[in-house]
Amino acid sequence: MSGLIHPDAVLSIVTGQLHDPSLCPACAAIRKRLGAEGTVILFWGDLALSHGFTGILTVSIPLGPDYGGGSISVLHCNGGKLETILATVSGGRATYSLSSLSPLAALAQAPRTGGEDDIPKTGDTGCRWLWWLLLGLSGLGLLILAGLNWQKRARDS
Ligand SMILES: [Zn+2]
Repeated sequence: MSGLIHPDAVLSIVTGQLHDPSLCPACAAIRKRLGAEGTVILFWGDLALSHGFTGILTVSIPLGPDYGGGSISVLHCNGGKLETILATVSGGRATYSLSSLSPLAALAQAPRTGGEDDIPKTGDTGCRWLWWLLLGLSGLGLLILAGLNWQKRARDS
């Protein structure tokens, strides 16, 4: 993560948490996408910093060295409005910019099952197991980021 972040800020991640779908139309839409066929969930949950930030926050999720290129979709609840951000992947990392931290889901399009000629040739499809591996790696990466922040905070105080 980079951007103008308060030095004492701690990143907290609550995996699998979105707003109440009956109260937030954007999170209801995200939930719907999570359940859609052919969608691979890389991450979904609530990101928050203990202190605010200004400007645009750049979030980088490590996907592992095997993931060469392409892009993933990031659905972001921005105060109840759904934002769809296309995150580019390069050097094994997906990078995207956010203007606020709130519930979001990082999604990729899975190869369709059922017919082998059915697979869309978009260049960013991969094996299913690979995506599950990436899911683990991206979660781990976020945890590492959070841990680093926490350590920094502990050292500074
Ligand atoms: Zn929401």
